Amino acid sequence: MLLRPSTYFIQETVNRGLEAISARLDPEMDKRPFFWLNLSPEPKLEHSIWDFGDMCARYVDAYILGRQVTGYNDHLDDESSLRKTLVTCDPYAHPFMATRMLITYVDLYLEESSQERKNQVDDLVKLIRSKMTFEEDYAYYFRQSKGWRSMDQPLGDFMPYPTYPIGGIILALSRYLESTQAPESEDLVNRLCRFVISVSGIFEEGGRYKGHTHSGGILTAIAGILRWAINTGDDETIELMRNAFDWTVKHSSSWGWVPDGLGDEPGSGETCSLMDALHTAILLGRHVDPSYFDIVERYTRNQLIENQFLKPDLAIPQGDFLQRGAVAKALYGSWASWSHPNSLDNCLKGVEGCCLGAGIRACFLAWDSAIEKRDDTVFVHLLFSRNSRYVEVLSYQPYEGLFELIIHDAPKLCVRIPPWVSERDLIVSVDDVQTPMNLSDEYYLELEGMKNGQIISIEYPLRKVEIIETLSEREYKVKWRGDSVVDIIPKGEKYPLYEREWMEKDSAPMDLNQPYVEQKGGPVYW
Ligand SMILES: [Zn+2]
Repeated sequence: MLLRPSTYFIQETVNRGLEAISARLDPEMDKRPFFWLNLSPEPKLEHSIWDFGDMCARYVDAYILGRQVTGYNDHLDDESSLRKTLVTCDPYAHPFMATRMLITYVDLYLEESSQERKNQVDDLVKLIRSKMTFEEDYAYYFRQSKGWRSMDQPLGDFMPYPTYPIGGIILALSRYLESTQAPESEDLVNRLCRFVISVSGIFEEGGRYKGHTHSGGILTAIAGILRWAINTGDDETIELMRNAFDWTVKHSSSWGWVPDGLGDEPGSGETCSLMDALHTAILLGRHVDPSYFDIVERYTRNQLIENQFLKPDLAIPQGDFLQRGAVAKALYGSWASWSHPNSLDNCLKGVEGCCLGAGIRACFLAWDSAIEKRDDTVFVHLLFSRNSRYVEVLSYQPYEGLFELIIHDAPKLCVRIPPWVSERDLIVSVDDVQTPMNLSDEYYLELEGMKNGQIISIEYPLRKVEIIETLSEREYKVKWRGDSVVDIIPKGEKYPLYEREWMEKDSAPMDLNQPYVEQKGGPVYW
């Protein structure tokens, strides 16, 4: 029997997230979600207008995508209740809700490409069009007469943000149009892209911007416009969005803390921003330059996983509160709405429900893009443990510099090697016999003639370094082990992150089981 390393980090994270959704549904109100987890001064689950179009859409999306990651079928009743409520929600209780509902309707269409589900998307697109202003060759909800390059004015009221409710529409329709033809959607996405790029004044030359990456919808718009530009072969726009993303990365930490208020020092990170950053990096990695997968690997292994609340006792005040138990259960597995690069100290007032959906979606995006079949070649872009119909990846990071590939159906294989590994240190074996290797210019190991059932092992010395990084004028001493951060100094005061001494073992814990054997990928791809 083959022993496998217990390194299913993405799958375990998603499992906890799906549990947290179930703990956040109100049994007294047909499982209506609670948008707000109030933590202090009194822990309480609270309803709000966002329970409907926003939360129902995000949680159905999370179940559809999350199930593909785990291969499990838990919580079907909860999902079914949310699906029922979703179609009764008013998309224009707030324009943002129409956007989130559209993304989930696209998921539903990808899950089952029936006429009924296509109509559901097309009808919502009609409604969205009817709420917008159309001028020349663009369309918009809000327009700032002087353009928009400052965060001052819209703080606290996001309605005038030109990208706020439309970034997600562009993203949803870009994906939709990859799978079907829909002239009204195509016209709308073209018009919205033109508005953001040429009329809104958001991006300066070279893709620089100042504003709210998530709350203002800028990063969502970057991901969506990039996706559409790739689809239509618009190289100039691809370059502009790449620059805008590089600008975002410049203000983010190398381990994936992405500020919401970019330019607003000191910033705060929201998991929703991180999700859009990951989506953008994945698109760039797949279609423009594979070195963007280095970013995906680091952001996922670190801030995405650390932003999930695993220690409710650090976040909820001590005392005899009526809802303490219920809040602790809903908090465990939820994602932070505000974070510092080294702590969740700024997220102890409460937690929004959006980040829970976003955390699961972000995990899905990383997992989904880790293995890709393109023409006759199977690519392994990310070194996370997961199964697929082509190859199973067993990763020994962060414990050991090793991963193994069990071939299911991958005669030609290209495997990304971490950029900090030197070629001369790399040892590649097929069924325990060392083999000569070929590394491409893009630092992918190229293998051919692989047969089903063969096991390839790739060994290298694990990087162990401490690096000083400055963010928002603060210095952080960051201890890396491979692509994982295991410690950051200074520590957070109340809810410190990266307390990962448990990762500093030289051999991976091993398991006889393959708990996620059913995860093969599909039917929904993003
Ligand atoms: Zn959020």
